[in-house]
Amino acid sequence: MSTAVSKNKFEAICPFCALLCDDITVRLDSADCSVEANGCHLAQSRYSTIGKPKHDKCYLHGTPIDHTKAIQIATEMISKSKALVIAGMLTDVAGARAALKLAERKRAVIMQSDGKRNSLQTSRIQRSGGYFTTLAEIQNRADLIIMFGREPVCACPRILETLCPQRSKPDSSDGRVSFVAIGTPEDNDSVFEGLKSFECSPEQYGMLTDAIRLRVENKRHNSNLGFISDEQIDRLTAMITKANYPILVWAESDFQFSLGDLAIDSINQLIETLNIKKRSAGLVVSGSASSPTVNQVATWQFGKPTPLSFRSRKPSYFPEFHSLDSIEKRSDVDIVLWVGGLDEDPQIPETTADIIAISHSMPTNSQLFIPIGIPGIHHDAHLFRTDQVVAMHVRHITPSLHPSGAEVLTSILNQLEPDQC
Ligand code: SF4
Repeated sequence: MSTAVSKNKFEAICPFCALLCDDITVRLDSADCSVEANGCHLAQSRYSTIGKPKHDKCYLHGTPIDHTKAIQIATEMISKSKALVIAGMLTDVAGARAALKLAERKRAVIMQSDGKRNSLQTSRIQRSGGYFTTLAEIQNRADLIIMFGREPVCACPRILETLCPQRSKPDSSDGRVSFVAIGTPEDNDSVFEGLKSFECSPEQYGMLTDAIRLRVENKRHNSNLGFISDEQIDRLTAMITKANYPILVWAESDFQFSLGDLAIDSINQLIETLNIKKRSAGLVVSGSASSPTVNQVATWQFGKPTPLSFRSRKPSYFPEFHSLDSIEKRSDVDIVLWVGGLDEDPQIPETTADIIAISHSMPTNSQLFIPIGIPGIHHDAHLFRTDQVVAMHVRHITPSLHPSGAEVLTSILNQLEPDQC
């Protein structure tokens, strides 16, 4: 259980985004839960629903069934499956370990709900490596933070105050750290209000960072990019070269356009160039804590992140071929096993395959649904933060009526016939 402040109040770690803020105070009165201190709007909204699950029974084709029967049916369906896909993976370390064990045993493909987005940076790291940093290092050493796009703030609403803890809302000049936002005019008006900002759309990030890099290398000083003046690029370059430790922050979900991987490459190349003379680093912001968590577990167990295919027994990594949206077009999938927990409303692409959903709430298109608790809310969980350096032990705040995702997956694994190896 989280640390009790008083009878109904707890100091807790919030599991609802990859920042895993460890300073929130939660109040629990019977089924009503609210965040009393330090919760953002996302935390307020998610905590308010934890005592009121939309679905608290197992369902088969919309008819309630008991838990034992549901596990038995799930096991039979998975036993017969010749082409299982385990998807979603909005789970904790224990859930990821159990799902990977099942994937290996059933020669399944395992993929995350946001796997395609995450693969851009992973591919870059596989090709050329990269320089990355931690939240603590940014808080203690960075003197310039450049944030690309709105997604880091939308995905992790307290990211600005986490990176600049001196100020609840950092502006561009607090004396120690300067904060610069690069975004569309709408981002700059709404998300980055009051920050020093430069206008640039995600499709233009690559051109902008290439222009800065060429100036840092003294190779070219006129760019004529059109969307931003040469004077503004000079100003941005001067800030970066003057800083002792500039940090670049982005979220891969802002790069979902054709050649988005090249834009990510350009940002990484700028960081590499800066490191010739000083320290500079990137921070890639994930939305759900499940994303770094599942990739950490997959990497430590199989040497590769998700998506992973065990179809040929050896784990193989083909992110384009095994993205979640691909399952709706494929005939070589007979069962989709959705592993949720941290998701609010599971969104499973339409598919001709049967869907078994293990989640906190029932997707509309599932044939079989088994409810589970939310990691870090209804049961203790280990989750990795967005900077991937620490697995936080997130203690539950209220007991669950339902098992964890790991427990359900382990029950299925234990009931599979030995010849399913
Ligand atoms: S920023 Fe994320 S971890 Fe922090 S309180 Fe909000 S939802 Fe929770």
